[in-house]
Amino acid sequence: MKKFLLNETRMPRSWYNVVADLPGAMSPVLHPGTLKPIGPADLAPLFPMSIIEQEVSTDRFISIPDEVIDAYRLFRPTPLVRAERLEKYLGTPAHIYFKNESVSPAGSHKPNTAIPQAFYNRREGIRKLVTETGAGQWGSALSFAGQLFGLEVEIYMVAVSYQQKPYRRSLMRAWGGSVFSSPSNRTASGRAVLAEHPDSPGSLGIAISEAVERAASDPQAHYALGSVLNHVCLHQTVIGIEAREQMAEAGEYPDVVIGCVGGGSNFAGLAFPFVPDKLDGKPVRLMAVEPASCPTLTKGVFAYDYGDIARLTPVVEMYTLGHDYVPPAIHAGGLRYHGDSPLVSRLVHDGIAEARAYPQNACFEAAILFARTEGILPAPESSHAIRAAIDEALIAKAEGKPRTILFNLSGHGHFDLSAYDDYLDGKLHDVEYPAEAVAAAMLRLPRIEGAPASESPAGG
Ligand SMILES: *Cc1c(COP(=O)(O)O)cnc(C)c1O
Repeated sequence: MKKFLLNETRMPRSWYNVVADLPGAMSPVLHPGTLKPIGPADLAPLFPMSIIEQEVSTDRFISIPDEVIDAYRLFRPTPLVRAERLEKYLGTPAHIYFKNESVSPAGSHKPNTAIPQAFYNRREGIRKLVTETGAGQWGSALSFAGQLFGLEVEIYMVAVSYQQKPYRRSLMRAWGGSVFSSPSNRTASGRAVLAEHPDSPGSLGIAISEAVERAASDPQAHYALGSVLNHVCLHQTVIGIEAREQMAEAGEYPDVVIGCVGGGSNFAGLAFPFVPDKLDGKPVRLMAVEPASCPTLTKGVFAYDYGDIARLTPVVEMYTLGHDYVPPAIHAGGLRYHGDSPLVSRLVHDGIAEARAYPQNACFEAAILFARTEGILPAPESSHAIRAAIDEALIAKAEGKPRTILFNLSGHGHFDLSAYDDYLDGKLHDVEYPAEAVAAAMLRLPRIEGAPASESPAGG
């Protein structure tokens, strides 16, 4: 069979919380000012209590509210598809399956968390959500979810993307979101940047500062984040829970589970539900794939660091390239983050998951091959997972052995067509992030009393 479709009645009723199965506790989250562990009260101005509880929960399963299931029904369960034509083109004995998260209204996996975040905020009486967006995927997913639950959504979009990606801006507005180019003159942080650099192209760091400032100063408003945090990874596990059932319907079990990694949430969503099997001794490999230009897991350091350049966000233990890392302008905008989910970092650090990095041209090549065989034009972010899946299939071919490969198609590329033009016109350059830059940035990590000295890069 080509497609494995679950009936709506088989939609997962709970999210899976990998924290329950980790060998050992997670390191505490620290306050950016005091560098002491934070408590729920510190997060209350920004997030609803139910989200804060999920963020620190150690329960294995957390039930999905009916209202969220009802909204998920707009596009879930998503298909599991066997990439037979791609297999045939490669001439590989491997079986390649992908979970198609591009079928959501926003075209990516992000509504899986935007929907519950909007729901919990609305249930606690919040009227408005404020967020930042880089390339616009998160801003559009949250606008869509806000509309479903009657919330206003205010978005600070990195200025350069605001100019270059007008269609994602249109999508946000169509779903009722208000989009502002960041830095803006609506916040003190934005005005401070504009006073010094009137033509600032903006950055995610600046946009986060603006969104947090707006949310914290309005009692009716909260902040929402589209990746990295534990509750976001939790919500995304509907992907892997469904995929496990669908693989069983296909009569197969994956040898390798692959996802691209920006902040880590779509990889987490597909891979975390396979962690218990892995810990039980099943030989399933969990592979996180990142851009060579932003090699957080493969060249970063596992240490405590800030989540943003302005050092406003909590300090967490993760793989990091340093909070003042400035990403090269590659086209997989959604993968350009200096840090990574603490949970994904921990799995890689403990050897439960592995990491790999690819330059962008190799990924676009894989993306075009995928479009020409399977028909779907993937998001540049997702093309990293496709590259890794193809390489695994080619290894199987070289060895003359079967291999079952499962990857997450995190989104489609219909709003990334200028990137495809650049690739097809031969205008894309590969950028490797220099090891010296990582070493220099490490000198600026927060110094935590009593914490072990940061470790050297993971290698790979
Ligand atoms: C945002 C995004 C990513 C990266 O974010 P993660 O949190 O690492 O999943 C990957 N693919 C697509 C299509 C995205 O929109």
